[in-house]
Amino acid sequence: MTQPIFMVGARGCGKTTVGCELARTLGYTFVDTDIFMQETSHMTVADVVAQKGWQEFRRRESEALQAVTMSNRVIATGGGMVLLEKNRRFMREKGTVIYLYAPASSLVQRLEESPQAHQRPTLTGRPIAEEIAEVLAEREAFYQDVAHYRIDATQSLSSIVTDVIQALRLPIA
Ligand code: ADP
Ligand code: MG
Repeated sequence: MTQPIFMVGARGCGKTTVGCELARTLGYTFVDTDIFMQETSHMTVADVVAQKGWQEFRRRESEALQAVTMSNRVIATGGGMVLLEKNRRFMREKGTVIYLYAPASSLVQRLEESPQAHQRPTLTGRPIAEEIAEVLAEREAFYQDVAHYRIDATQSLSSIVTDVIQALRLPIA
């Protein structure tokens, strides 16, 4: 199987970190839709949202998803990629979708430890712990709905990668 692999889940669940390591292990290429958008528009996610609004950000995000999708590639998506039904349908049809799940408390802890946390746009302007729990509750059903496989993202990086490879029954490179 050489279909693209899509990583979905909440901010901080490890889509970028796990996706990159998974790609390395499989000998696949790796693309992160957030990074791809920053490179093609020369603007950070936060700047696009601030200057153009969420609707324009979501439009560009769908475009980016379609542009980066190809075989033998792992694609880390933005946390909100699953919000649009068209993105969910696209990912399910074109490849295998992995949901990295973790409780809100783990996500909060990681984002507080990560220096990049400050570059991420807040969605509501409220404290990060409250916001993460609320956003996760809103999106959980979408992550479940789109995923072919659900993997516990609180494990070590190597265990998560092993779980994904076993779930997909893929040969390592
Ligand atoms: P996402 O792309 O889903 O927003 P990241 O891959 O950027 O998440 O990870 C968020 C933070 O959590 C980073 O600081 C990363 O190093 C850390 N992290 C990711 N996966 C793990 C893991 N399995 N164990 C511990 N820390 C992790
Ligand atoms: Mg990421």
